[in-house]
Amino acid sequence: MSNLETEPAEVVCDDQAPGGFELLEPREVPLGGPRAMIVRRTLPQRARSLIGAWCFVDHYGPDDVTDRDAGMVVPPHPHTGLQTVSWLFEGEIEHRDSSGAHAHVRPGEVNLMTAGSGIQHSEVSTTATRRLHGAQLWIALPDRDRHTAPFFEHAAAEPRSIGDATVRVFLGTLGEDAASPLRTFSPLLGAQLDLPAGGIADLPVDPAFEHGLLLDAGTALLDGHSVPAAHLGYLGPGRSTMRIEAGEQPVRALLIGGVPLGEPIVMWWNFIGRSHDEIEAYRAQWQADVIENGAATGRFGRVDGYDGAPLPAPALPGVRLKPRE
Ligand code: MN
Repeated sequence: MSNLETEPAEVVCDDQAPGGFELLEPREVPLGGPRAMIVRRTLPQRARSLIGAWCFVDHYGPDDVTDRDAGMVVPPHPHTGLQTVSWLFEGEIEHRDSSGAHAHVRPGEVNLMTAGSGIQHSEVSTTATRRLHGAQLWIALPDRDRHTAPFFEHAAAEPRSIGDATVRVFLGTLGEDAASPLRTFSPLLGAQLDLPAGGIADLPVDPAFEHGLLLDAGTALLDGHSVPAAHLGYLGPGRSTMRIEAGEQPVRALLIGGVPLGEPIVMWWNFIGRSHDEIEAYRAQWQADVIENGAATGRFGRVDGYDGAPLPAPALPGVRLKPRE
């Protein structure tokens, strides 16, 4: 990404000083598909594309989905070069993908889908779901691993206490013994934090990591910086502990972190690649193999058991896609 300021300020980079705080505002985006659902997107945005390898954060609900036409209905659609993370606070989602996985995800459990060289999946909230509330996040795969064969993993995240916080680590590690068994391709952290009103937790974090705190409920201080509900507070690398303080309401939040990816990526629709031409080729293969020919072979395979048509790709923009740093 290019700096468009006409008179950019000089920035001194000091490896000793902990990195700065940024407050990332959510924007409302309708999800694709015939029954659009509104999500609050905090990543990527103009001010920031990545936190570690985390490159996409959508937060939604709580939505009343008792009406049979409400809820999440995302028909089969492709991904490349990334992992998708599904995490719920309320409700249940049924997942099917072209690696052959068929799984449900519920609060306290994580679905992790590694798209690698290419996959397609569908996601539908179950009929038993009354309220739907959660987050979908993406992780960019490093260049050396982004063509790996696709696979799917699922795990429950056991709660444990750090200070006043209840912590559920669903990816990576936090401190000595909170670890997820799921596969990551760069050093990462993903966890749910719950604190009572006024509660404080000093989290043992990796100084090489940058972090983001997505506030689902309540407001919190992140190392003294206020993060309101639905916002994503960012802290740069360079600290070994991070203090989270709940305000006057209980706090529920997601903490994400990782070593800065350090690679430019090109992100468009559901694809991550490294160039415009690569994205254009992924789009052409999706359209030809799946949308036009209904083929079961090819980069994106086939999703079994979903009753409905896959999502066609939108048109590419008229300009060449540029990498984000
Ligand atoms: Mn998806």
